[in-house]
Amino acid sequence: MVLIIAGTRPECIKLAPLVRRLAGHDRLRLVLVNSGQHCLAVRRTFAEFDIRCDIELGELPRFDWLGASHDHLRVELRAVLDRIRPAMLIVQGDTLTSYSGARAAHDTSTVLAHVEAGLRTDTISDPFPEEWFRRRIARYASIHFSPSASATRNLLAEEVDARSIHQVGNTSIDSLWTLLAEMPLAPPAARARDTVLVTLHRRENHDRNAGIVCDALIALTLARPDLRVLFPIHPNPRVSATVHRRLEVHPAFDLVAPMSYRDFVFKAAAAALIISDSGGVQEEAPHLGTHLLVPRSNTERPEGIETGWVQLVRADREAILEAALEKLAAPTMRPVPIDELAPFGDGNAADKIVHVVEQTLLQHAHA
Ligand code: UDP
Repeated sequence: MVLIIAGTRPECIKLAPLVRRLAGHDRLRLVLVNSGQHCLAVRRTFAEFDIRCDIELGELPRFDWLGASHDHLRVELRAVLDRIRPAMLIVQGDTLTSYSGARAAHDTSTVLAHVEAGLRTDTISDPFPEEWFRRRIARYASIHFSPSASATRNLLAEEVDARSIHQVGNTSIDSLWTLLAEMPLAPPAARARDTVLVTLHRRENHDRNAGIVCDALIALTLARPDLRVLFPIHPNPRVSATVHRRLEVHPAFDLVAPMSYRDFVFKAAAAALIISDSGGVQEEAPHLGTHLLVPRSNTERPEGIETGWVQLVRADREAILEAALEKLAAPTMRPVPIDELAPFGDGNAADKIVHVVEQTLLQHAHA
């Protein structure tokens, strides 16, 4: 039996292709757990993929500090592992849920597989806590599903056993590929681009930096009154309070609730520009053919920058305004195709992961 846990929207989007394959598998049984970190978001996002969790832990209580949230989740997940006794636990990415799951796997001697392993910046405190979580998860995992050549290099540099690293691509591209196959995009030049799409959620962009991004957006709408700004707002009050306070009064802004994955991807493809500190959007934008400005000082996804579609920008009003105006005036480029040369994988990561899971569990069964 394989157990998968998810606690946030991006984990669901990236785990959905794997869940669907394992759920239909003839020899492996899957148990899917909603950790309760963002309980409703997980329920809703999986529902978009026709997936329901087998176990739903209660909504994670609000604690004053991250350590307490981790302790709570770790205990809850350890109890689930003790009860179900899966042959393997699969976690994705660098969230509190994945880290707590990794610790619970260690506590219960459960084999741990990490999807999207090896993403690194060169600074353990930036982004916090994601960089710290993913480095720690690597210590507990015995199977590392790397999404890219740079991630594989990072793991090797940390002396992770090469035999335990499987470079499969990112499952985000599997989900994107499926969506685009259902609803192909119009060619970039044929799109009426009059919207700037914005998301913010990282800790480094809470409070003060959220205010700076808002000021830059106001300046942008003054410089380009033909543009509207569509801003699905993260529920964290340290983002939403600032954004509502600064932008609510401006008529050029559409401040909306988080969007469904499908709606978001199509809005992103139709946008004139995206401004977002999201990790997943850095993987998607090059394939959608929309320029992305990332208000962060570094990225664990250098491949996005190499495509020419993604650019880091300092959290500074003038810097954001200048970069946005420049990107809005840039000539149209061809979106990056999803193929074997694509920077984050060819859209078949989940199949490759299932293959390794099968091999591992069969070997264990025969040992
Ligand atoms: N996304 C979504 N709805 C939104 C905003 C983003 O479905 O309103 C998707 C987006 O397409 C991407 C993922 O959510 O696949 C990114 O999630 P997020 O930015 O929350 O987390 P990160 O990728 O930074 O971990």
